[in-house]
Parts: sequence; structure tokens; C-alpha cells
Amino acid sequence: MLNFALPDAPCLPILRGLAAERILILDGAMGTMIQTLDMSEEDFTAQGHIHGAGCRHTTDHPQKGNNDLLVLTQPQAVEDIQLQFALAGADILETNTFSSTTIAQADYGLEAAVHDLNVAGAQVARRAADRATAQDGKPRFVAGAVGPTNRTASISPNVNDPGYRAVSFDDLRIAYGQQIDGLIAGGADLILIETIFDTLNAKAAIFAAQEAFARAGRRLPIMISGTITDASGRTLSGQTPTAFWHSVAHARPFTVGLNCALGAAAMRPHMAEIAGVATALTCAYPNAGLPNAFGQYDETPDQTAAQVAEFARDGIVNVVGGCCGTTPDHIRAMADAVAGFAPREVAA
Ligand SMILES: [Zn+2]
Repeated sequence: MLNFALPDAPCLPILRGLAAERILILDGAMGTMIQTLDMSEEDFTAQGHIHGAGCRHTTDHPQKGNNDLLVLTQPQAVEDIQLQFALAGADILETNTFSSTTIAQADYGLEAAVHDLNVAGAQVARRAADRATAQDGKPRFVAGAVGPTNRTASISPNVNDPGYRAVSFDDLRIAYGQQIDGLIAGGADLILIETIFDTLNAKAAIFAAQEAFARAGRRLPIMISGTITDASGRTLSGQTPTAFWHSVAHARPFTVGLNCALGAAAMRPHMAEIAGVATALTCAYPNAGLPNAFGQYDETPDQTAAQVAEFARDGIVNVVGGCCGTTPDHIRAMADAVAGFAPREVAA
């Protein structure tokens, strides 16, 4: 079913060339950066713009906390954060679209805004990328971020009804397809399927991406990133890192790896396992340690960077970046720390 006859996007040979020379840098956390701006309901809706007459999107739901909406209502704030990450050394900028599917936006009553959220999300990141390139001459790439949604296709949320599913593969395929169409229309270079806790959700996203590529007439590089959620080293849907790789290898991803849930120290053995089996490049973007009692992340840029440098020294990574709690200073420290190490060599 996967159509590899489509032409590859023009960024792929450029990315492959850069990745052969050095470890590439992905950006850091958008969510925790937005939190520091302490925005109000009025900020999120741009003084009621999203609720007001004449706006194409109206809803009665409160929007505070709907970070993805900011690409429409506070695009400059999002662009400025992405520019900071780019100037700190990020080669690849993630779009602020983690929850921009009809499934995730249902919580905010904004299912109808999904196309606009993804188009604008890609355009905002593209502007930040182009501004950074204008300053330092280095190429930058926009990765369209596709989150897991808040529902799982392979586990029942109801302990009394183990056969129940809150979402089906086709629900996810359709929702992801809409999202990826928007990301491509807005100018995304890559598609990043991230924070995967349920491999079946990720498989729906991979399938949807292939369908979207067929509609667009070109194949974008895909980055696939799982999340290990417990101490036994498995995803929520129960897979080891090796099993996870074999479940997604058919997509021939540009990168495969892990993000979120763990700090770099706890992530290290699981990344080493993926690096040992994957025939794709590997990508790791841990949180800034584990959250404290207040849900905040305490690792300093130097602490996170020192641990990520060990990934590089051990030859298990091709791309590194940061997830929850990582700031532009974390990304700068990380970029400096891995600069002296060669990228992981990929077994053919
Ligand atoms: Zn995270």
C-alpha cells in the first residue's frame, strides 16, 4: 500500500547530506515556553476574536491552554519562540500543532479550525526558520508536528469493558490526514509523528501521511518518535524499543527514536536499544529531567547537555533536541556539547 514511487521532497538529499557530516539539532519545548508568557483567556482568543461575530471559528469553550490556537491568535509569540530555538542552533523547528487534529481539538470545540491551525502552524515556523537563515546563512527545516491525540486505539479506557475503544484506526487515519494535508499546504518540510504511546495510533498517522503524500504528489521525510512511559522500558501499548522499531520500519522513516516522559539519563538505555536495531537515523529529545512536585523541570542546560553528549560520544544518535522543560539555553548547550562528536553510523 505504501507508495514509494512518489518523488521525494527536495529537502531530503539536503538533510541526508547534513546528517552525514554532523549530529543535527531539533528544537526544544514549545509548551513550557508558552507557559512562561502567562497568557490569559483574552490572550488565547485575541480579545475574543475566536469567539466573535465575523470570525470564521466560533465556540463557547474556554480556550486558555489551547496552545495550538496561538498560531492563529498570537502568531508573533510562537514565531519568536521558534526563532530563539533556531538561533540557539536548531536545524529543525517543530510546528506548534501537537494537538491540531479534530480529535484533540474537540476538547476546545474547535474541530472546524483544524485545517487553518495546521496551515498557519507550518507558515509561522517557516517564517521563524527563514528569519534565522537570513541572519546566519544556515539552512533550517520545518517539521510538522503530529501528536498522539488524547485517545488510544489499542487499549480500553474502561476497565469494565476491555473490548471498548474510544477511537478507531479509521477515525485516526481521517483526522491525521486532515492535519497532514494542512501541514503540507503550509510548507512543512518533514512530518514528525511524536510522543507515541500507542503504536496503533502511530500506524494510523503513518498510513494517513502516505495518503496525504499521494494527494500532494511528493513524499516528505517522516520522523517517528515513541515515548517510554514506565520503568520496564515499554511504551503504554506494551512494546519494547526493538518491537517499536519493527512496527514502524515499513514507513522507511528518515529518523526513529524517543522523546518525552523521561530525562536523558533514564532514556539512554532505550535509545541505545533502538540504535542497535534501526536502519534509519536515530533521534532523541528527552525532557529536562523528571518533573518536580510542582510539575516543573529542574535540569539546567549544562546538566541536560552533558547527558545528551554521552549519547553522542557512544554513537547512538544522529539528531538530538529537547522535549518538556527545555529552553533555547538547553538547545544551545546541547548543540555545543555534541558538536565535537561524529554522528551515529547507520547499518545498511
Ligand atoms: Zn515532553
